[in-house]
Parts: sequence; C-alpha cells; structure tokens
Amino acid sequence: MAFLVKKYGGTSVGSVERIRHVAQSIKQAKESGDDVVVVVSAMSGETNRLVAMAREVMPAVVDVRELDVLLSTGEQVTIALLSMALKELGVDARSYTGAQVRMLTDSSHSKARILDIDTDRIMGDINEGRVVVVAGFQGVDEDGNITTLGRGGSDTSAVALAAALKCDECQIFTDVDGVYTTDPRVESRARRLERITFEEMLEMASLGSKVLQIRAVEFAGKYNVPLRVLSSFKPGEGTLITYDDEENNMEQALVSGIAFNRDEAQITVTGVADQPGTAYAILGPISELNVEVDMIIQNIGEDDTTDFTFTVHRDEYQRVIDYLKANNEKLGAKSITGDDRMAKLSIVGVGMRSHAGIASRMFKSLADAGINMRLISTSEIKISVVIDEKYLELGVRALHEEFELAE
Ligand code: ADP
Ligand code: ASP
Ligand code: MG
Repeated sequence: MAFLVKKYGGTSVGSVERIRHVAQSIKQAKESGDDVVVVVSAMSGETNRLVAMAREVMPAVVDVRELDVLLSTGEQVTIALLSMALKELGVDARSYTGAQVRMLTDSSHSKARILDIDTDRIMGDINEGRVVVVAGFQGVDEDGNITTLGRGGSDTSAVALAAALKCDECQIFTDVDGVYTTDPRVESRARRLERITFEEMLEMASLGSKVLQIRAVEFAGKYNVPLRVLSSFKPGEGTLITYDDEENNMEQALVSGIAFNRDEAQITVTGVADQPGTAYAILGPISELNVEVDMIIQNIGEDDTTDFTFTVHRDEYQRVIDYLKANNEKLGAKSITGDDRMAKLSIVGVGMRSHAGIASRMFKSLADAGINMRLISTSEIKISVVIDEKYLELGVRALHEEFELAE
C-alpha cells in the first residue's frame, strides 16, 4: 500500500476512450490498496487550440491575466470527465481546480511559481477513501487571480503535490514508457533508461527534452520526491529519477543522453569596439526587451574591434535583429547578421566529470558526418553545440552511435 500522485499528460487523456482507460488503471491501483491523487493535463491539442484563439482575438499583445483564465479551462474539462469516469466504475472521486485546492502561486501569469499548497481538503477526501483529481498547470494568486505554470506545467503541479502530501512516489504517465537516451521520435534505436540522476534529467530538460518540465525536476530534486516516468498505455517499470550515489550509479555511462532544441536562432554583430562596456551595450537592451540570451561568444578581433555571436529563441529573432539595426548608430557595428534555422544539440552525462576526451569524440563524430558546429558551450556534465537545423537528426544519430547508446 502506497500513497501516490499519478499524473496523466495530454495524450493519455486525449479522448473519452483514453480517459476511461486511465480511470480503469486508477481503479486497479485503488483496489490494490493505494491512496491516489491524480493530476491531469488538458486533452492533447487543447491548450494549443486555446492559445490560437486568444491570438486571433488579441493579435498584438495578449492579456496574460485573461489568457490564464482561458488556458486553465482545458484542465477543468479533464478533471470533471475523469472523475465521472471513475464514478461510473464505482470509484468515489472528487475533482478540484487549482484554485479550489488552493494551489497558491505568485502572480507571474503564464509562468507562475507555486508558493504553497493547502493539503487539508485533499487529505480529508483521501481519509474518506476517495480518489482526488486535481487540475494540473494552474493555481491561484493571493488576490484570487487564476495563474498558469508555463507549458508542460502539469508535471510541476504533480511533483509539488507529491512533496506537499509527502507521497511515496510521483508517477508521470505519458506516451513513452520512460526517459530514453534521446527522443525516440528522432532516433528509433533510443533505449529506455532504468534510472537517470536528477542532475542529468535537469540538464536534459533544460537542453530541450520536453518529457518533463524543468521546474518539475528542480522541485523533485529539492524536496527529494521520488519521481518516475511511465507509459499510460503499456505496463512497465519506467524510469526512476534518482540521486547520484554509489547505489544508483550502476550504469556508469559516460554519456547518458542526447538532448536537442530546434528553436534556436543565432545573431552575429561584427566590428564593434573592443573595449569595456561593449557586451553590455549589445546585450543589456536585449534583456530589457525581455529576451533571454543563451550562448554568447566574443571573438578576439583585429584593429581594436571585435565580433559577438549569441543565440536567442527563434521567435525573438526578428525583434532582436530589428532592434540592433535600429540602434546601430550607437553601436557602430560593421554588420548585424544571423540565422534563425539553428538547433542546439547536447550530450549529457555525470560520467563526463571523470573522463577526458569526450568533447573531441563528439566533435570528430560530427565532423565525420559533415556537420559544421557554429557555437560550443560546455559545463561539467554537458557539451552543447549549435548547428544548422537541417542536420539535427543526422547529428543526433551520429552521437547516439558514437557513445553507444542504442540497445
Ligand atoms: P505529456 O503530454 O504526457 O506531458 P510530453 O509530450 O510533454 O507528454 O512528453 C512526452 C514526449 O517527450 C514523448 O512523446 C517524446 O517524444 C518526448 N521526448 C523528448 N525527449 C525524450 C526522452 N529523452 N525520453 C523520452 N521522451 C522524450
Ligand atoms: N496543458 C498544458 C500544456 O499543454 C500543461 C501540460 O500539459 O502539462 O502545456
Ligand atoms: Mg508534458
């Protein structure tokens, strides 16, 4: 008998049939003696549909408060349908929106952070033998405004609930049966990992593997919530996300996984003065535009001038280029150029800490595949390169082969 949070993503609740299937699995868990709090996402495609409608009504700048009111409806549909499906099977269940639980967040609409969770109502139901079904992705701020936690945020709702309720495990049910060495949609030979460390999972998520929301992994690491990714369609052990200790670190792989992100754009500013304050003159205003800059490279230039290259999200590319060009009188750059069809390809592994030569293996393997690397960045447990998007699949497969990640 265990106390579990079970989270079901969009595909897993994508139709009435699938909601019935989820209800059946929860019934089984309940019958085996487990206490269950369920977190659900909106039906697949629903959040995108709502975002598109909002953009139609407010094409220029969408009102974030109203957007959150709109987006939270997707999850409200699924909590009600799942509770009905459970009751149809004779399982006593009760649904709650984020505000009803009182999942208290700050007021940063569309990227709110959870501050506190009121567990009384949930525990009351659990003690009465009910299954509690909570809407993921949403909360409420101190003033009663509905907030949302960012795309993929139901993972974070689930982990936060598991932490607050001191559950035995937080189980993330999705359309793959665990965390793989890379996205199985890109490399069909990708292998399911039995375990991955929090640290590695955090890097994978930050570098583009959308199987878990970054904040969910952060939260689970911080509050020591046992976290497992499983398939909602196929039984199995899934992948356990663990601490890196001797007991867990069995596989000892140099590289545990390959992550990628297609949304990159690269911008190069050439011929600016090589003097204090130049980087700030370029990047300061960009951060004021609320644009996040990822990788930054400054070259040693000639004749007291230098070149800067940096990456931003593809959606921000045009805005940044336009801004720099409009303000070039002050900057005095020789040229401002870029490319918005870039991708970031990364290898991740705690094993890199204790092994030299991994970078050169990565670079050789990409060179042999004829792939040019435009930017490189490294940290203790990851190496990332920026390449042309058209070579991304080729790059993923080359590295998967090089680091012997296939079955
Ligand atoms: P959900 O709707 O259940 O939250 P997501 O689409 O957010 O599901 O996450 C599951 C998807 O993540 C998978 O279908 C898979 O394509 C993708 N994915 C990316 N990288 C990985 C990886 N390393 N391992 C497993 N899945 C991955
Ligand atoms: N429905 C939200 C989204 O599509 C939250 C989630 O699925 O986790 O981003
Ligand atoms: Mg998700």
